[in-house]
Amino acid sequence: MTVVAQGLARVRDRIVRAATAVGRDPAEVRLIAVSKTKPASAIREAYAAGQRDFGENYAQELAQKAEELSDLTELRWHFIGHLQTNKARFVVRVAHMVHTVDGPSLARELGKRTAKEGREPLPVLVEVNVGGEPQKHGATAMDLKDVLASVDAEPSLLVRGLMTMPPSDFESARRAFEALGSLRALHGGPKRLPELSMGMSDDLEIAVACGATLVRVGTAIFGGR
Ligand SMILES: *Cc1c(COP(=O)(O)O)cnc(C)c1O
Repeated sequence: MTVVAQGLARVRDRIVRAATAVGRDPAEVRLIAVSKTKPASAIREAYAAGQRDFGENYAQELAQKAEELSDLTELRWHFIGHLQTNKARFVVRVAHMVHTVDGPSLARELGKRTAKEGREPLPVLVEVNVGGEPQKHGATAMDLKDVLASVDAEPSLLVRGLMTMPPSDFESARRAFEALGSLRALHGGPKRLPELSMGMSDDLEIAVACGATLVRVGTAIFGGR
């Protein structure tokens, strides 16, 4: 087994244990392998080991890798980084889902670019800065209603849920994950917002316990960056 395949196996096992511990079906949790800064060869290794969902943070890096790996026909790209409106066109060409819509202007641009591309509707998540941390991206809890409405106003976008980047200590992370769940309940519940994208290498167990459906894991699969 390659090092990447071993990392993947360990992370899958952690997800199964975390879900089972709280009575959830592990199949409800989709693993996104975060491959930012890692070479295409590492992605091929993970793909060979059965991984299909991959996360990238930078628009140009995503565009480049998508081209290099276009022979991997079942691969799904998730865009999980901060997205500037002028880079949106790179992303909508290849993305299966965008996790980081943080305001109406990005929603409008993604909507316009997706329509222009003539592709199927683009699933998106709204990134919420639940702790209101000034150095973090994401919509505030107060703006969430308007941002969701701005996504709904774009016929080429499909709102699928919420995403957050929590503070790094576990107690604050748990509070942030719980807060994201509460915000979902407040804005239509799982019917309107089925996906909660939260949890990374260090805190995925907490996120799964709090209802994560998409966990974004880099270091624990591919090693340090
Ligand atoms: C890098 C990154 C991750 C993965 O973090 P690890 O700690 O390496 O697992 C997850 N989500 C986002 C938004 C990231 O930028």
